[in-house]
Amino acid sequence: MHVPGSAAERGDGSTVTVTGSRQKAAWAEHVLPPVEHLAGDIWSLPVPIPDNPLRYTLCYVVPSDSGLVVVDPGWDSTKGWDALCDGLASAGATPADVTGIVITHIHPDHHGMSARLKAASDAWVAMHPAERDSLPHRQFQHEKSRAEAARNRLREAGAPESDVRELFGTPDEEHRPDSAPDLVEPDLLLEDGSPVALDGRDLVALWTPGHTPGHLCLVEPTARVVLTGDHILPRITPNIGLHGRRPGQTPLADFMDSLKRLASWDDHEALPAHEYRFRGLAARTEQLLDHHTARLSELLEVVGELGQPTLWEATAHISWSRPWDQVGAMRFAALAETEAHVQHLTDLGLLIRSDENGRPVRLRRAPVA
Ligand SMILES: [Zn+2]
Ligand SMILES: [Zn+2]
Repeated sequence: MHVPGSAAERGDGSTVTVTGSRQKAAWAEHVLPPVEHLAGDIWSLPVPIPDNPLRYTLCYVVPSDSGLVVVDPGWDSTKGWDALCDGLASAGATPADVTGIVITHIHPDHHGMSARLKAASDAWVAMHPAERDSLPHRQFQHEKSRAEAARNRLREAGAPESDVRELFGTPDEEHRPDSAPDLVEPDLLLEDGSPVALDGRDLVALWTPGHTPGHLCLVEPTARVVLTGDHILPRITPNIGLHGRRPGQTPLADFMDSLKRLASWDDHEALPAHEYRFRGLAARTEQLLDHHTARLSELLEVVGELGQPTLWEATAHISWSRPWDQVGAMRFAALAETEAHVQHLTDLGLLIRSDENGRPVRLRRAPVA
């Protein structure tokens, strides 16, 4: 999931060198990029995401002496399944040849099709333990529904009822079950530094929390590539939000630490899950760090100007890539993103957040010592 970012983040990507030039050309022409056989015998397969501006997930197929591993099978749809099967056929394989599925994170545009691929292949599914713990059926077991949890969170932030209804309906409308796809549990857990079980090939998991709590990047040192998932994309800034109500989470600080970590793989090519391949991980991480630093300053300014805004008012006054009244369905993601920045400023002692029972959360700047 990606939130429309601030104007500053929609750069032209000039800090990175695009290596996926056919992918970038396809992006500009609004068509799917081709299946590509990359250096190091890794395959890049675009799996479409129907009716979504991201358009596709780049799924990677990593062959080894013991079979194929698929990283992020993509969004579950008939079109997506056909694209995945066609891509595997280009690599001379069928779903039955897949022995493992590695998930960078559980967002449905990555993990959505794992269930279908697992059923067709009997492959194991691997992810980070913190990602397993965020699976919706684990995370929302105490809430009546995901929509109910989201409505409560919006109200606590001070969102007007009209926004709450527009975004998540009313309890009466919940005759339909939650439309979340069937997200399978992992068979294997990959900790930071864990090797993926492949014969004759190194593929190592790097824990890069931030976009999600258990996000993984994968390093293939011989091919000198890093599969960056949604952690680092060449142009889009990934959404960094608070994840549900778990106490003690620090997604923005985690994300910034994870960015600094990736900068040391600057001599590796980045294979992201969206957009196109590139080089320049150090420059791109720097750009993302600058973006969040600027955003933190902007939030402090907005709170200073508004006095004691609700969380919702502060969110609505930050600059997004389009005017607030056009942010539409992404308002909830924008709120989560603002909450992550508020959390960070609160942890730094620069903002104070008041959570009085039954009242929306209000923010104020901490007095200067
Ligand atoms: Zn994501
Ligand atoms: Zn994604």
